[in-house]
Amino acid sequence: MSGIGEVDLYNSGSFFADEEMPPEVRTHVFKCLGSFPLSRVLVESRPEFITSERVEEARRLLGNIPLEVGIGLESADDDIRERFIRKGFDRSAFESASAVLSETGAGMVVNILLKPLGLEESAAVDDAVSTGRYVFELAGRLGLSTRVALQPVFVAPGTPLETEFLAGRYLPPNLWSVVEVVRRLHCMGETVVGLSEEGLEPKRSPAGCGKCDGIIRQALRDYNRTKNINIFDSLNCSCRS
Ligand SMILES: [Zn+2]
Repeated sequence: MSGIGEVDLYNSGSFFADEEMPPEVRTHVFKCLGSFPLSRVLVESRPEFITSERVEEARRLLGNIPLEVGIGLESADDDIRERFIRKGFDRSAFESASAVLSETGAGMVVNILLKPLGLEESAAVDDAVSTGRYVFELAGRLGLSTRVALQPVFVAPGTPLETEFLAGRYLPPNLWSVVEVVRRLHCMGETVVGLSEEGLEPKRSPAGCGKCDGIIRQALRDYNRTKNINIFDSLNCSCRS
């Protein structure tokens, strides 16, 4: 496994939840990873499973390899998170988990959802930006190394969102909105944009007018790679409002 930089362990759930990942398996995984020259290990977890004991053990087994823990906060607004995204945890749970990560020397990656069902375009942009601001301010107070992963919503088959989409009651965010959020978050802290929706049929993922989709997507990919905000300066299209 030499030559591998970063290992992302996505288990579609909580890596620190004993019921999903038995403690002995978790220990084994971290122990194995700790013996390779990795630049970073990333796991995801709901906040309530992020305890000092579990994170400390992971850090100990990983040795010098930095550990990042991803949390799907989605929105800093308890009402939006509960009503539209149904995450089932509140800001105080997120803040407790952040404090644990800070105390144990881990890093944090926070997922922010752009345009959940129930939010109009401009409200969605504002919510994503204010969520980023909240996250970076909290991280700053805690001295916690933090990245934000902006996740623009796409319409996956077989979901309640698809029903709304097919009924004409929902459209994914405009690609210009994605650019707008990235521009506003850039000066606050490290931001990456999730572009995993590619391959879906048009209109199920964030789009422009059709003419500009390609150049905006490419600019977002370039931004992820270079973190150069000036990439967006030369972008334009008649559809941009
Ligand atoms: Zn356009």
